[in-house]
Amino acid sequence: MIQLTTAAKLENAINKARTVKPFVRVNRFGSYTVTNKATGATYTVECMKRDGKRFAHCTCKAGELGKECYHVASAASAHIQLAAEAASFTN
Ligand SMILES: [Zn+2]
Repeated sequence: MIQLTTAAKLENAINKARTVKPFVRVNRFGSYTVTNKATGATYTVECMKRDGKRFAHCTCKAGELGKECYHVASAASAHIQLAAEAASFTN
């Protein structure tokens, strides 16, 4: 489980995501399939909120070790966008 705190902590992962440009598919709100189009490697990222803290989990090797991977960075940006859109419906 990776705790999402500051963007600075995710910076390396975000930079990697910008280079790799993985494809993010939304399974449902909070669950994403991230595919590296070059290698075909596919991982599942879950985003969740617990006690006001945001966490993510990725099925890749780095993610299993609790390291910020670019799959999490990619899924988190999609997740934040979805959450913002969902919030806009209630206004
Ligand atoms: Zn990962």
